[in-house]
Amino acid sequence: MGRLQNSEGGFGGDADGKARRRPCGLPCGMDISYPPDAAVYREKVQAFLGEHLPADWRGLGALGHAEAGEFTKSWRSTLSANGYLALSWPKEFGGAGLTPLESVVLAEEFAKAGVPTGGSNDGFGISMLGNTMLKWGTDEQKRHYLPRVLSGEDLWCQGYSEPAAGSDLGNLGCRAELDGDEWIINGQKIWTSGGHTANHIFVLARTDSTAQKHRGISFLLVDMRQPGVEVRPIKMMSGESEFNEVFFSDARCRRGDVLGEVNGGWAVAMTLLGNERGAGAAVNAIGFRVELNRVTELARQRGLTQDPHIRQRLARAHTSVEIMRYAGYKALTSFLNGKQPGADASTGKLFWSQYHQEITELAVDILGADAMTPTGQGPHGAFRFDAPGAPNDSANWVGVFYNARAGTIYAGTSQVQKGIVGEQILGLPKEPRADGGPWNEIPGHG
Ligand SMILES: Cc1cc2nc3c(=O)[nH]c(=O)nc-3n(C[C@H](O)[C@H](O)[C@H](O)COP(=O)(O)OP(=O)(O)OC[C@H]3O[C@@H](n4cnc5c(N)ncnc54)[C@H](O)[C@@H]3O)c2cc1C
Repeated sequence: MGRLQNSEGGFGGDADGKARRRPCGLPCGMDISYPPDAAVYREKVQAFLGEHLPADWRGLGALGHAEAGEFTKSWRSTLSANGYLALSWPKEFGGAGLTPLESVVLAEEFAKAGVPTGGSNDGFGISMLGNTMLKWGTDEQKRHYLPRVLSGEDLWCQGYSEPAAGSDLGNLGCRAELDGDEWIINGQKIWTSGGHTANHIFVLARTDSTAQKHRGISFLLVDMRQPGVEVRPIKMMSGESEFNEVFFSDARCRRGDVLGEVNGGWAVAMTLLGNERGAGAAVNAIGFRVELNRVTELARQRGLTQDPHIRQRLARAHTSVEIMRYAGYKALTSFLNGKQPGADASTGKLFWSQYHQEITELAVDILGADAMTPTGQGPHGAFRFDAPGAPNDSANWVGVFYNARAGTIYAGTSQVQKGIVGEQILGLPKEPRADGGPWNEIPGHG
């Protein structure tokens, strides 16, 4: 990989990872052009989009909610028929088997076109579970589960958080005990996104309460279509019910439905979180740029582009999106060099989620009193920016503004990301812990 790198041998640093700086303190010159293979593959993806999208396509956001739902379903079938689902999975498991560079180029082109990369629960099934299963799963698990994820037969959701175990996930108390050839599961999960549209859930459960808290956890694969699993939707402040509580009362899964080792689920869980936090580094800036253009247009429509305060905030937003673009290239170079996102992903997560609150506050300020009586079409999803093509309706911006509040909470809160950056990047002393002993001896457990 000769491009997308620092011209002297590594984007933003030496081979040993240390940043080289000019006397002025700025990093050395960078070559951010893509290698020639990327251009060839980009044309192929653009041709595919040109062939399969309507001539007047403006992005998913331009469709009404029902229409967008229908489009997403049929688009998923188109992706599946053309081998464009599960980009990085090997072909033997039905994936596209793309190189890292090809998958990034495809993700970029899809983001620019405003088309989804899969269906409603595919983020959990393909990106999170599938990629984790490829690393930790047995051959039997891969052969059983992966084709079902691709066919859309199995729709997954993530059963990590509990009322007393969010940031401190290792504190979880949902239990599983072996009974012959089955695990019996009892306990509760919360904030389960897409739990109402899923039929399978990957569950972190405590399988040894006498071990230290991170050591007695197993990663279970559970079919939700059984009497012992109850899903209760939670209403969000936007009025939508995108996430849920999930209750397990003597729910069951097979003894072999453990991903990784029994009591070794913490390492599996962390692989999956790495995928979740690192995702999108390369395409984030594309989506945020489209969104910022929409805010700028909103300011124009409202006659506020000459207002010095609005101009200043727009300029700050522009700078932030450019920072995300260059940080995305840096993450991309690491990715193309085969490195998994580590603590660096926390910097990106922290930055985009805080930026998103600022830009959506600006949109609501531009709307002024209209934001108090929102009209028009609300956003399509509950995460990050709305799909390209979305209208500049007040209901849209108020919805995205509400959703942005959650951005600094899900996938690890900002405070937790700062802790990771402090300890793992800056080398600050570790947070003192008083819970190093067996889980069942921590006050409140047992
Ligand atoms: C929209 C949305 C979707 C979600 N989807 C899912 C899902 O699909 N599956 C799933 O399992 N979970 C999901 N979650 C849950 C999410 O992962 C948790 O909300 C998150 O980890 C925070 O946990 P908590 O809500 O229990 O807050 P707590 O952990 O109770 O934190 C409360 C406050 O204390 C702060 N805090 C906690 N610990 C520290 C620390 N060590 N240092 C400094 N400050 C600290 C936090 O930053 C926060 O401000 C979702 C959440 C949201 C908002």
